[in-house]
Amino acid sequence: MSNGNVIRGARVGSAPPRHPERHRPVPCRSVSFWCRNGHRTDIRIAADAATPELWDCPRCGLPAGPDAQDPPGRVRAEPYKTHLAYVKERRTDAEGEAILAEALAALRHRRGER
Ligand SMILES: [Zn+2]
Repeated sequence: MSNGNVIRGARVGSAPPRHPERHRPVPCRSVSFWCRNGHRTDIRIAADAATPELWDCPRCGLPAGPDAQDPPGRVRAEPYKTHLAYVKERRTDAEGEAILAEALAALRHRRGER
């Protein structure tokens, strides 16, 4: 009988607990959210519930996310770059010409041109 007290109320479908519902421990886990102002919010959610993607920061109202390093809406330190700018970082102009020529050749080949 000693073991029964430890897990009382923890199983689904177990006998009704002797204590009122509000005293029954619900398995919870703690989740932290950060907004881009660096405010940390700890919430407790049911252990089997999915982590929300966003949580409104109670201090400033901005959306907060579970990743401290990448809060939602954060302005990147790096200036915005176009896809082309990234490509140009990786490839020289000469490489670009070669890739373009190769792609055009393949395209012409598919079209039956020689
Ligand atoms: Zn905040």
